[in-house]
Amino acid sequence: MYNNSGEIQQKRSSYFAKNVFNRDNMLQFLSQDAFEKVEASIFAGKKIDRKIADQVAEGIKAWAISLGATHYTHWFQPLTGATAEKHDAFFDLMSDGKPMERFDGAQLVQQEPDASSFPSGGIRNTFEARGYTAWDPTSPAFVYKSTLCIPTVFVAYTGEALDNKAPLLRALHAVDEAATSVAQYFDKNVRKVHATLGWEQEYFLIDKELAQSRPDILMTGRTLIGRAPAKGQQLDDHYFGVIPSRVLEFMSELEQHCTLLGIPVKTRHNEVAPNQFEVAPVFEEANLAVDHNLLLMDIMDEVADKHGFKVLFHEKPFAGVNGSGKHNNWSLATDTGTNLLSPGKTPMKNLQFLTFFVNTIKAVDTYEELMRSSIASASNDHRLGGQEAPPAIMSVFIGQQLSDVLDELEGVSKGKLSPQEKTELKLNVVGKIPEILLDNTDRNRTSPFAFTGNKFEIRGVGSKMNCAKPMTILNTIVAKQLIDFKKEVDALINKKNLKKDEAVFNVLREYIKNSKRIRFDGDGYSFDWQEEARRRKLSNNKNTPDALQVLTSKESIDLFSSTKVMSEVELKAHQEVELDNYVFNIQIEGRILSELVYNYILPSAIKYQNMLLKNVQGMKEVYGAAHKNFTEPQLNILEQIAQHIAEMKKTTDAMLDAKHRADNMATVAKKAKTYCDTIKPFFDKIRTNTDELEKLVAHEYWPITKYRELLFIK
Ligand code: ADP
Ligand code: MG
Repeated sequence: MYNNSGEIQQKRSSYFAKNVFNRDNMLQFLSQDAFEKVEASIFAGKKIDRKIADQVAEGIKAWAISLGATHYTHWFQPLTGATAEKHDAFFDLMSDGKPMERFDGAQLVQQEPDASSFPSGGIRNTFEARGYTAWDPTSPAFVYKSTLCIPTVFVAYTGEALDNKAPLLRALHAVDEAATSVAQYFDKNVRKVHATLGWEQEYFLIDKELAQSRPDILMTGRTLIGRAPAKGQQLDDHYFGVIPSRVLEFMSELEQHCTLLGIPVKTRHNEVAPNQFEVAPVFEEANLAVDHNLLLMDIMDEVADKHGFKVLFHEKPFAGVNGSGKHNNWSLATDTGTNLLSPGKTPMKNLQFLTFFVNTIKAVDTYEELMRSSIASASNDHRLGGQEAPPAIMSVFIGQQLSDVLDELEGVSKGKLSPQEKTELKLNVVGKIPEILLDNTDRNRTSPFAFTGNKFEIRGVGSKMNCAKPMTILNTIVAKQLIDFKKEVDALINKKNLKKDEAVFNVLREYIKNSKRIRFDGDGYSFDWQEEARRRKLSNNKNTPDALQVLTSKESIDLFSSTKVMSEVELKAHQEVELDNYVFNIQIEGRILSELVYNYILPSAIKYQNMLLKNVQGMKEVYGAAHKNFTEPQLNILEQIAQHIAEMKKTTDAMLDAKHRADNMATVAKKAKTYCDTIKPFFDKIRTNTDELEKLVAHEYWPITKYRELLFIK
């Protein structure tokens, strides 16, 4: 099974999901009764009773121990953005002192981690309630290294979500209910609809030792200073190029771990920037896909370390070099095996496609600002609108051919359709969609939300982000939209006596008309689009504090409470945590930047100045008055350095002063706004001086690893 270097040599399909407590393993380790109860609970999202939980725990324990597990943990996603776990050993002593391996239903179902320091946005203070983790049976348990990991939600005793997973599960439930009842217009056999997610994870790799020499990379995940290298990505010679062998070894090992853990990774390639790569799996049910992405990021850190690399998930690790994103490909699939965003062979199937297609566009139009908020973070602010990723303005790309189809549908007459009209529509408009899509190859990389043949792709998600956030919002708004759609169609059928397809056409026509402003196929990076978007009254929230405001608007509170995804209390708490995270990030960057200036750049520049001064003095001693013929260049460099030192110190001190004032502000909203508008702009000014100094100071005096050393793995 393993070769000399410890690599698994078998076909990946032969050991796929070997470390996952999936159906196959459940069948082997659970009684028929327990197995069926778990399956039913997964299907209906129902609770598992205590007796069954005990049986399941027994089975999971036996299975995990057979794989060498000694510990178990509830694996959860606190609002910090990372994953968290607290390991307990199976090992225990019985009352008579006899040792045993113990794991029962209570331990499987619920745990109370001492997690008082995870962010809660005031929920736990307000309610004086502790948080607990609760088993999520829809994401199977897995064994990683010697630990059994049980995916869980993290909630307060009063029921509020303290994590990203609980709202996601509620959103997925909402979209399941709403989409199932709409899908039943077209196929009575549909019992369940699940959202699918296929993420594409971009990342940078740099040498571990070099990363360790840079406090900014270690503490903030990005370079706060550094001149662009002479050779950057201009040549495009990295994109889809040969993967360096050291990197390939890292990727192979990563893929083996992923395969054992059931993460179906499929694609790997170089990305646009030097040292930038991408990994993407086959798409999965959205909750599982979210867990798999988080797990992947954890494993990547470890495997990279073993191979002498550091992975950078930050959205913009290097100025002047393309940053990283995480496209979220999304669709809806029925339990009858139909992709609801994929046109089919019959007119009815295509009407179903159009229904979900148009409703999605309408949902994004109504809630465009919420979609923007779902991808807001301090680090993603660097990327959105930076001519390398979609702008902060939401729009939907559907391509020329589908635009033509929607234009035709707009012409559908009101109320009842004549038989000719119906035939015409079905044959010539709806019927033609599959052919159209086959050669619909136009792709628009600048669109934040693009239809790509059988799914939509959210392109603004940051590489570091938890996909749960955009997935929660997208599925919630689509759920709400489908609920409204169903009401309208039913009303036309029941009150106006229209046939089902007539009613559907009628409602879709109105949606197409009313959601036109969100459709945009042009260049999303252009300045013209900003102007045009303003005319269309689309929001353009360029930074996180602005983007997060909408979370607690009346419309958002109504949306989330009517779909039972988040209460007003939760929305406020989550918004507060996001703002806190924003402030922390920039606070840390400010501190590290001032340390770099005072402890690294300033001393080195002065040392080099001294060297030059000594040289000038020496010249004077040897050549007397004639030294002026030789020392002009040195003096000129000395002056330039002196100017940059003075400017750098002045702006750093001003930044620290402003930071001090911001830290004393009363509310997090005010703090975030000040950090954004007042403190962040200092960073660029400081950087101008440090980067000029990097140009002037002798290489041997420069204390920080340079871009050209970081960016080209050999
Ligand atoms: P590309 O966009 O690079 O041309 P694909 O169209 O094959 O490649 O898909 C890109 C991503 O979309 C993959 O990560 C894949 O898992 C995902 N994907 C494909 N179909 C779906 C779907 N129905 N739902 C969600 N994601 C999907
Ligand atoms: Mg893509």
